[in-house]
Amino acid sequence: MSTDRKATELIHHPYEAPEGFASPVVGVHKASTVFFNSVADLRARRWVDKSGYTYGLHGTPTTFTLEARLATLEGAKHVILAPSGLSALTVVNMALLKAGDAVLLPDNVYYPSRDFAQHEMAGWGVSHRLYDPLDAASLRAQLQPDVKLVWLEAPGSVTLEFPDLPALIATIREAAPQAVIALDNTWGAGLAFAPFELGLDLTIHALTKYPSGGGDVLMGSIACRDDALYEKLAWTHSRLGLGVGMNDVESVLRSLPTLPLRYAAQDASCRRIAAWAQARPEVRRVLHPAVAGSPGHEHWAKLCTAAAGLVTLEMDPAIPSGKVDAFVDGLKRFRIGWSWGGPVSLAVPYRVNGLRKLPQPYEGVLVRLCIGLEATEDLIADLEAGIQKLRG
Ligand SMILES: *Cc1c(COP(=O)(O)O)cnc(C)c1O
Repeated sequence: MSTDRKATELIHHPYEAPEGFASPVVGVHKASTVFFNSVADLRARRWVDKSGYTYGLHGTPTTFTLEARLATLEGAKHVILAPSGLSALTVVNMALLKAGDAVLLPDNVYYPSRDFAQHEMAGWGVSHRLYDPLDAASLRAQLQPDVKLVWLEAPGSVTLEFPDLPALIATIREAAPQAVIALDNTWGAGLAFAPFELGLDLTIHALTKYPSGGGDVLMGSIACRDDALYEKLAWTHSRLGLGVGMNDVESVLRSLPTLPLRYAAQDASCRRIAAWAQARPEVRRVLHPAVAGSPGHEHWAKLCTAAAGLVTLEMDPAIPSGKVDAFVDGLKRFRIGWSWGGPVSLAVPYRVNGLRKLPQPYEGVLVRLCIGLEATEDLIADLEAGIQKLRG
């Protein structure tokens, strides 16, 4: 057989593996092209209908499986995957907001979300306004007829204030029935509370965090229950051409079964570290939803028993920020870097000035700790050694 005939043979090979293979692992189905059995079949399929396959961008059995598992985790009906948590946020904004509309963001929103509103949406004629997530009256004052989307985050980024979600949702439904209610549920990970039981419309996740669990994958998801809302989001997602890599999907599928165990372990370790920090004079306040006195603790306690492994130390304002930076630089187990939910503990200092638009009660430098899977004793010893040097 000639070499070029060999190519044809190899491409159109007749062998088909036997049916019935079963193992704990989901197959990694990669595709740009997907085959149709006939022209009629090709013409009949709809891009956003998941009863069949159309093109790799719109899913393969691998993505459909992850979407179904995430829907179960979140208590949703539909899930859409995006290449990052941030792109999941931007798809929602782009699908639901048109020129003349407004979006409301909590003042403690994940910062790139506010940045997107300021630098991209503003140019498209979409305005944004901030509300104080701990004050339903502050939210109500912003709920004019132009508001088509309200974002919630529980707790907020860095300062970890936990809002009264049922009260905020009731306020929005009453004063702005036209608005879609969206929650960035990355912190809750589908485990801390049941978001859809609260009556909101959609959630997004940075799967980059706990669901991936490795600090090595970027991915996001959008979840909802309503069919019409799903179609709207799915069409925008499709038009933007946001695909995900199947090997990355496989990584998340592989990590999902251990998500509840990792979340619980990181939660327990983080609470021990929070308790250690509460006893340190260098720390003015420990920000963690499960710590009594932390902003919104009572709202967290009504809704949740679990918490993610994030804690922020509000340092004594008398300690100069350069010294706090040196404390973080000197840590051995805690590495310096963004993100969270992986095996490695991380520390990032934040200067309070400029972090928020609305007046807020924080004074000293904030050090956000993301607790990984190291032995808690080793993490406390690391912090203990570093914090000793802050005095003197
Ligand atoms: C990390 C994060 C995101 C963005 O996720 P990426 O995958 O890094 O784009 C969005 N929201 C919250 C609350 C996050 O922590």
